[in-house]
Amino acid sequence: MRHWGRMAQIEGNSSFAFPIPFAMICRNHPTRPRMALQLRPNCEYCDKDLPPNAMDARICSYECTFCADCVETKLHNVCPNCGGGFERRPIRPAIERRPGVCVVKHPPSDKRVHLKYSLEDIAAHCARLRDIPSQER
Ligand SMILES: [Zn+2]
Ligand SMILES: [Zn+2]
Repeated sequence: MRHWGRMAQIEGNSSFAFPIPFAMICRNHPTRPRMALQLRPNCEYCDKDLPPNAMDARICSYECTFCADCVETKLHNVCPNCGGGFERRPIRPAIERRPGVCVVKHPPSDKRVHLKYSLEDIAAHCARLRDIPSQER
């Protein structure tokens, strides 16, 4: 448990209920750059603006970003790029509630993203996958 004491000290967090391998802790060391979810500015399908506080932004595990309406009516919960399902994109706080973490410190991407497949291709892709639950794709 000697390592354990050190890990808790490094993280400044004694709330872990079980030991976590040292490498995992190191990867999240607070002095290293923090990877943040990429908040893309628009729906890749209809180009609707999706600001960081949009309640209708949806993302796949690769951060492909669409509006809720397109996910439901056009994509049927199938990502046209990877075939995965979507979840609601969490809202990044506008105000710095904890040091260094808010939309000002980690601003949204300003690079608009657009579909790289044709609408026909996407429709066929989604038709192939929509009836397979996302956890089984
Ligand atoms: Zn859309
Ligand atoms: Zn995707």
